[in-house]
Amino acid sequence: MAKAKPVVAIVGRPNVGKSTIFNRVVGERVSIVEDTPGVTRDRIYSSAEWLNHDFNIIDTGGIDIGDEPFLEQIRQQAEVAIDEADVIIFMTNGREGVTSADEHVAKILYKSNKPVVLAVNKVDNPEMRDQIYDFYSLGFGEPYPISGSHGLGLGDLLDAAAEHFDKRETEDYGDEVIKFSLIGRPNVGKSSLVNALLGEDRVIVSNVAGTTRDAVDTPYKYDGQEYVIIDTAGMRKKGKVYESTEKYSVLRALRAIERSDVVLVLIDGEEGIIDQDKKIAGYAHDAGRAVIIVVNKWDAVEKDEKTMDKFEKSIRAHFQFLDYAPVVFVSALTKKRIHTLLPVINMASENHSMRVQSSILNEVVMDAVAMNPTPTDHGRRLKIFYATQVAVKPPTFVIFVNEPELMHFSYERFLENRIREAFGFEGTPIRLIARARK
Ligand code: GDP
Ligand code: GDP
Repeated sequence: MAKAKPVVAIVGRPNVGKSTIFNRVVGERVSIVEDTPGVTRDRIYSSAEWLNHDFNIIDTGGIDIGDEPFLEQIRQQAEVAIDEADVIIFMTNGREGVTSADEHVAKILYKSNKPVVLAVNKVDNPEMRDQIYDFYSLGFGEPYPISGSHGLGLGDLLDAAAEHFDKRETEDYGDEVIKFSLIGRPNVGKSSLVNALLGEDRVIVSNVAGTTRDAVDTPYKYDGQEYVIIDTAGMRKKGKVYESTEKYSVLRALRAIERSDVVLVLIDGEEGIIDQDKKIAGYAHDAGRAVIIVVNKWDAVEKDEKTMDKFEKSIRAHFQFLDYAPVVFVSALTKKRIHTLLPVINMASENHSMRVQSSILNEVVMDAVAMNPTPTDHGRRLKIFYATQVAVKPPTFVIFVNEPELMHFSYERFLENRIREAFGFEGTPIRLIARARK
């Protein structure tokens, strides 16, 4: 089943090296390191891998809190970590020793029940290792000496973090329950649509906490099918200061996406598509969730018989990577066409967990090859031996070949299209993995 990856958040006062470590762990320079403390980073969230662990990592230092005083900013960043993460890496600077700002962070982290791993950064050479003992005073046990510049000590640090991954409580919803979330920028109508779906004027109050985290889910049943609406940014914590920053609301959306089978990407029909919509939709696609594009506020749009077609065309142009996603037009306000939504959710969810028969799959693939010969490179031709479905949510296919490098993007795309034509898979991404036959 679609299961959320563990989330690791890095916290600490400015300039201790959080974004340097984030980049190291992520393995590419996704954020900008500068000498100025508190510079805005491009990216503060990424998936990462350590040994056999897949996880997501947040650089809380990149959450821009605005003009708040220094200690207040640190506090808010620490709270984001406490809210969002399964494990917190508390980062300090071995060259400067324990500071009062470190103690401030420590106090906030004590109060959370989250596991904390203490890292002492900028321990660039072994002689400096003696300086880490002071950090025991912060009360988080053994400090892990690391060097972001030299890439030292990261293995031990991540081992310590990963030890907490398996201790997470697992989700308690059965596989037959469809979990979905509504994502989209503020004011697009997420809360209104939830209420419209639930047929009430307010979000249901009998919530159950789904996980160890603070997420509040709304389970309900309709026409014999059980659903859970996963809480998203802007739905419940409205008004709180940390809802006000775009990056933070993206984070909350990401967590909801991770926990969902189906993601409804809401677009404001009145205002049209903006870049932020694309960013959010991109995450749903990357996470391998089923995606439905929902155009809300359709009541407020002046229309003739061509308007819907035109809008859909513009969506297709903006969201080319989501060519599999159905588009639904609704009004949460007037409840018009709301009833069209659940059948589409059911369909997308079904396709997201669809398994196909190997024999038919191979017939489709071999027919495709016969129709469009495999690519060659320097006289070597791609040979496809066998295809098999290895996973659902999303449907994932391994294609055994002679040399995986010969599988070009365009040919992969061609195979994907043939598979889609044969089996459907509307609403869900599918994944093709070329692997050398042993
Ligand atoms: P952040 O504000 O906590 O995210 O800190 P940055 O990652 O932006 O790093 C602040 C400064 O410390 C930058 O000039 C980095 O190059 C430097 N820095 C980061 N890690 C190390 C390290 O391991 N050793 C040394 N000597 N400098 C480091
Ligand atoms: P959220 O921030 O995404 O949860 O958005 P809300 O559900 O709070 O809605 C934001 C505003 O848009 C409110 O004033 C709603 O009344 C309005 N709104 C929501 N859905 C619709 C709709 O379908 N049509 C119109 N005209 N307004 C809507």
